[in-house]
Amino acid sequence: METSACDNSCDYGKPGVFRGSVRFENPTLAEYRWPLCEVQGLKPGPRLCVSAGVHVNEVSAIEAAVRLQHLFNPETICGSVSIIPLINQPALYRYSEYVCPVDGKNINHTFPGRKDGTFSEALCDAIVNEWCVGADCYVDMHGGDLREQVSKFVLYQKTNDHEVEEQARQLAMCFDAEIVLGLPRSFLDKPGRPPTAFARHKRIALMSEAGSNGILNEKAIFFHVEGVLNIARTLGIIDTPASSFQHARVLCDEYLWVYCPTDGEFHAEVEPGYRVEKGQRLGTLRSFFGEILAEINAPADGFLLWRITHPSIPKGEPVLAVAVAEPTQP
Ligand SMILES: [Zn+2]
Repeated sequence: METSACDNSCDYGKPGVFRGSVRFENPTLAEYRWPLCEVQGLKPGPRLCVSAGVHVNEVSAIEAAVRLQHLFNPETICGSVSIIPLINQPALYRYSEYVCPVDGKNINHTFPGRKDGTFSEALCDAIVNEWCVGADCYVDMHGGDLREQVSKFVLYQKTNDHEVEEQARQLAMCFDAEIVLGLPRSFLDKPGRPPTAFARHKRIALMSEAGSNGILNEKAIFFHVEGVLNIARTLGIIDTPASSFQHARVLCDEYLWVYCPTDGEFHAEVEPGYRVEKGQRLGTLRSFFGEILAEINAPADGFLLWRITHPSIPKGEPVLAVAVAEPTQP
């Protein structure tokens, strides 16, 4: 990692607030620089890495990454907090939905990436093996692309290592979420989100989700900011009291995507965050004459995680997702 500091910055790695940019070692990434704010405390302690803007329209998460930079005081914190507010630099000002325009890949489904891969793969590798090296936790904040509304939820990865899984779940519970979703262990075999890639090496990453439609929303920003602050409290970076929780933080362990069965205009009947029952109608697809072409029904009992908000959806595209609650313990 090669850093360069702004005028009002301390030197990188020294106690204080570093503001500047970072260039990663991989030549595939050489044309880009990433904005970086790193608050290094006077006292040693844990390291927390936080990012947003893997999806550049998920603006409440990006704004949370900006506000968080001003909430850590190097005089009082233990350890460091490192923040990259916009990961998908090639998509900046291009408003690309989901993908990185250089290679058309969804960075969020490409972790851990590869050094010798495409731009997105090289970037994921740099995040995992350069920027987040030594991090006790990495939080990647998301929520609501241009045509999407999400519930307030957080993802962690279930693993065969009980201790790592418990710690990841405990940190996930730091967010005042409607749903706390542990990704199934079967995900560990494939490229995926940061929580999955990190868990393979007994490291912890989380994803927080809140927001919608590329619009700044104070409640969504607050959700991300407070969740990250609570993680910093739990890790021992800051010692202010934890915030109280308003939402149920229902523990879920299945993430079911529902795909559009036909071209049509989607009219939703249930909003994200609500409980749904298996077979319940969640919306309809209609023709341009108003005829009902198909119903979208809940694939299982659970909670609506997110849904597409733009009515026009072609056959085969995801239209919504449902999270299934863990079986209750006897
Ligand atoms: Zn996203």
